[in-house]
Amino acid sequence: MTNTCFNLISARATAISPSSTLAITSRVRAMKAQGRDVIGFGAGEPDFTTPDPICEAAIEALRSGMTKYVPVPGTLSARTSVADKLARDNNIMCAPDDVIISNGGKFSLYLALQAMVNPGDEVLMPTPAWVSYKPMTELAGGTFVEIPTTAASNFLATAEQFEAAITPKTRVVILNSPSNPCGTMYNDDETRAICDVLARHENITLISDEIYEQLIYGGRSHLSPASLDIMRERTITINGLSKAFAATGWRVGYAAASGRSKAVIKAMSKLQSQMTSSVASFTLPALTVALESCQSEVAKMRAAFEVRAELMHSLVSAWPGVACPPPMGAFYVFPDISSAFGHTSPGGCSIENAGTFAESLLEETGAAVVPGDDFLGCGPNHIRLSFAIGDAAIVDGCERVKNWLGGLS
Ligand code: PMP
Repeated sequence: MTNTCFNLISARATAISPSSTLAITSRVRAMKAQGRDVIGFGAGEPDFTTPDPICEAAIEALRSGMTKYVPVPGTLSARTSVADKLARDNNIMCAPDDVIISNGGKFSLYLALQAMVNPGDEVLMPTPAWVSYKPMTELAGGTFVEIPTTAASNFLATAEQFEAAITPKTRVVILNSPSNPCGTMYNDDETRAICDVLARHENITLISDEIYEQLIYGGRSHLSPASLDIMRERTITINGLSKAFAATGWRVGYAAASGRSKAVIKAMSKLQSQMTSSVASFTLPALTVALESCQSEVAKMRAAFEVRAELMHSLVSAWPGVACPPPMGAFYVFPDISSAFGHTSPGGCSIENAGTFAESLLEETGAAVVPGDDFLGCGPNHIRLSFAIGDAAIVDGCERVKNWLGGLS
């Protein structure tokens, strides 16, 4: 023991909150392990298992001795598969050398921000937005600037709102369409209009997080900003295997760019070489199989999510006092539950905010949802529910919430 005061934990680590979505996921896991009857609307991951051909490719790679270090950004053949995918599905033209494969889309985003953001730089994004963008921006020394949106505009920001929010310090803009947590997405014209604004600001680079791009509903189309001439050299496109291929545990994501933004991929690679070296070697042949020959598996999962999106929306819309835009993509609904604030739950808890709402709901019904606070913007009035769970669980869980809401006093 010593009397000396010292800071065991850095200011950087102290300032960052843990991911609230992963916290709910681990709480649900622990409750299930104790035998509690829990419906997990919390986790942002498909309930499907990774399609067999992808698993087989990884097993085969291990058996054939692919157990050694691989090149930092991934093997040439894996990067070629990514470049081919981007050309085929997204009309994004880039060379395999302008692709980096990293440990999940999350680490791709982290590296992209570390590569571009200096202390004092602003990172601009419509909110509510996924919980990690702000902490990642702050870990890079940047300031996260919100364009607040509401349910009335389907949580989408207009080109005019972007123009008004851009300052000389804006260095990076992030778009995440379809959006986690909102489940809504920009149509092609809206994307074009936003890109027209961004293109006028030479110093801005766009990070386009397209991790949900394949999970879209109602016959909608997804436009990748990097496919537009004006944004081709100004966009870092992020994607990965987690959502479309039900491969969250594999930790495989990627980033790609062209023209002047190639330098960002190079800088990301340099950072990765000092941080994780690369993804796990045997995931790389599996990535090729996923991107090149699993379209029918993805189509089946997408179709199942589309059915669940409609089911979920119709059930949530029947909850007393709750409003929610219909999901357009991803696998989330983000209802406004603020009409419950100021009431008392059937179990006697006072509901003051989304946190106490989610807490009492979980304790009293076993339905786990994510309080919207960490998604920023109007998030504190909302909860996020994932419908990447079975149909029966959706029906059961939504019934529990409905009855619980009906019992508020
Ligand atoms: N972007 C968004 C919007 C997400 O929702 C997620 C996962 N929750 C990620 C990126 C990262 O996904 P992963 O690291 O599993 O590829």
